[in-house]
Amino acid sequence: MGASLDLKALRARKPVDAPVNLDATRQDGLGCHSGKEMMQNAAKAAGMGETLDALKRDYPVGPHDQPQSMCPAFGSLRVGLRMRRTATILSGSACCVYGLTFTSHFYGARRTVGYVPFNSETLVTGKLFEDIRDAVRETADPALHDAVVVINLCVPTASGVPLRLLPREIDGVRIIGIDVPGFGVPTHAEAKDVLAGAMLKVARGEAEHGPVAAPRQPRDGRPTIALLGEMFPADPMQIGALLDPLELAAGPVVPTREWRELYAALDCTAVAAIHPFYTASLREFEAAGRPAVASAPVGHDGTAAWLDAIGETCGVSPAMVAAAKNRFLPAIRGALAANPIRGRITLTGYEGSELLVARLLIESGAEVPYVGTACPRTKHSEADRDWLEAHGARVQFRASLEQDLAAVEEFGPDLAIGTTPVVQKAKERAIPALYFTNLISARPLMGVAGAGSLAQVINGAMAQRERFDAMRSFFAGVGTGHAAGIWEEVPKKRAAVKRAAPEKPVGEMA
Ligand code: SF4
Repeated sequence: MGASLDLKALRARKPVDAPVNLDATRQDGLGCHSGKEMMQNAAKAAGMGETLDALKRDYPVGPHDQPQSMCPAFGSLRVGLRMRRTATILSGSACCVYGLTFTSHFYGARRTVGYVPFNSETLVTGKLFEDIRDAVRETADPALHDAVVVINLCVPTASGVPLRLLPREIDGVRIIGIDVPGFGVPTHAEAKDVLAGAMLKVARGEAEHGPVAAPRQPRDGRPTIALLGEMFPADPMQIGALLDPLELAAGPVVPTREWRELYAALDCTAVAAIHPFYTASLREFEAAGRPAVASAPVGHDGTAAWLDAIGETCGVSPAMVAAAKNRFLPAIRGALAANPIRGRITLTGYEGSELLVARLLIESGAEVPYVGTACPRTKHSEADRDWLEAHGARVQFRASLEQDLAAVEEFGPDLAIGTTPVVQKAKERAIPALYFTNLISARPLMGVAGAGSLAQVINGAMAQRERFDAMRSFFAGVGTGHAAGIWEEVPKKRAAVKRAAPEKPVGEMA
């Protein structure tokens, strides 16, 4: 394909010659329901093989290689919507866009989500690409925006809609086109990295070619540590406090909230891979000559090891590192001891901070036999995995829902922390359970503030056990599964219907 689409020639072609995949327009089209293999084959046939290979390299799959939670593209969308002066446009099926828009506003986006709709004709003729290009031109107002992000969802990716042919910038507004198909990016956590990495790449190119905008907040001249991965708002401040005696400062959190923060992030002395699976972003830091430090300052052992690693990477004298440790570690130990957690906890999630939370729980006194994360194992997650395994936890990367549920059965915990279907299953069995995203992710984890921050919610939940037992015995016999609800007669299973439409496991996406 040349530098731009020859739409005239394209329209003159017979549909079978068009560079889009016609499968996407047949019956009800392609989507999560079509199956990963069909989507991948369609994308390869449409010339997207290289894109899929790159995604496969960055986000290797395991047992959990198909979305078992929300649509992965939500991660990229959320990053775009959180950035100042950034417009985000989706290109995909209306049902996908409806779900993504709904979820964005449910999580308080307070920002318009752009959408370029398509139909069979605009997809087949290449008009969809033209429509996207028009939408981008219309949106790229330098008075309003630093960047316009266009996200190709499953069908346009499978059909080969070539976002790479969009202009790189219009009137100084950067145009960032990314493919985030559910059949290529396993989790929404990694989809955040897809966009963050794409933005860092552009920002690095700009910084290499001339002066760029200074950070909004003037820096005090101390070398900085950029922080990779979304975290609770108090955590960067805690990290800043820990770095202060090393004469270092906390840099921006990536994904950033503003374009100019990307330059400041790249201008760090080292990057803390708090979320160790941000492979595309780490590649950009590496290209900028910035070393990465794994794990995070969580609990006593985590903070001690992290300060050592930061000191070594940034050339801080051992005496200064020792002084910082003497200052913070007793306070962390004291906070952990003052907020003990006693009980067996299984922990599962897809946010990317599961291993760090498990470390804190164990240091607080909990027994954690199983940690499941939907994210992949990377070289930067090894330190946490080693520590957890040395403390009795089985760590399952790319954990599937089935593995997480099996762990609840196997270990019979006092508390199950997990995703919605795990929490649902645990509660059915009268096991207290907490939803990871809303109740655990919304607390500080780092430094002194993080130590002990989980005890109240965890102990409160575990104390509900008796209530769960009472409720279970009160409702015993009222019906479960197909017989749940209020009936005049207990419904009978209809074997013939069941054979025709086999039940799907709980939580499986339709
Ligand atoms: S994974 Fe997301 S974009 Fe893809 S078909 Fe499902 S909802 Fe749509």
